[in-house]
Amino acid sequence: MRIDVVTIFPEYLAPLELSLIGKARRTGLLDLRVHDLRTFTHDRHRTVDDAPAGGGAGMVMRPEPWGEALDSLLEGAQPAPVVLVPSPSGTPFTQAFAHQLAAQPWLVFACGRYEGIDERVFEEYGERARLVPVSLGDYVLNGGEVAVLAIVEAVARLLPGVIGNAESLVEESHADGLLEYPVYTRPASWRGRDVPAVLGSGHHAQVTRWRRDQQLRRTSERRPDLIERLDPVDTDPQDRAT
Ligand code: SAM
Repeated sequence: MRIDVVTIFPEYLAPLELSLIGKARRTGLLDLRVHDLRTFTHDRHRTVDDAPAGGGAGMVMRPEPWGEALDSLLEGAQPAPVVLVPSPSGTPFTQAFAHQLAAQPWLVFACGRYEGIDERVFEEYGERARLVPVSLGDYVLNGGEVAVLAIVEAVARLLPGVIGNAESLVEESHADGLLEYPVYTRPASWRGRDVPAVLGSGHHAQVTRWRRDQQLRRTSERRPDLIERLDPVDTDPQDRAT
């Protein structure tokens, strides 16, 4: 997969050189390129922002550098990449969304700052590419870079070969609409707290049932909204007894 990130703070993306994502880049599973938006400016101060039309607080990112940056990436691109613009008013980012993005060959991220990017950029590239404003959650960050770090990590770990044991992707939170069950390791007893006996029983079916019950209990307690969205077809009579 190829990913391009356009930002005024390229150094913000440095963590993507570390750990499994860094390894995926070095082994060629992920071709990630970071571009400085200011290289697409032409004035002495490399200006990317200006006062909001109509007045008000803060600054707005001017359309021209964004136009040049995105043109340079999209020119002749067939098929066009998916252009993702982090925004608190975008589509909420979810695990299902991550799976959709992981199936794409090429993603471009446009990181806003200040009060955001001039709306005409959304209009222009909404017509020329598949542009999707995407939100990390119902809160406001200072810029799109932190959202890109989160989204790239969530997407890249789904690419074949990035995570050593692909099975660990199957049982984790949000994979089946539920939160993950609690996990334990050695020692069997720590500060008077014991690992649940069933996990040491060697009885596979009982472990599976216990984990499923824990998933249902934890999700009911912490995220009742997820339980309401569960497809009844995916539950079994024993789930309903929990
Ligand atoms: N004035 C904007 C508003 O009220 O919607 C907020 C601008 S915010 C200070 C600057 C940039 O941070 C945004 O353009 C966006 O790129 C990014 N950002 C902030 N919150 C975000 C969120 N929840 N999800 C994704 N990106 C976010």
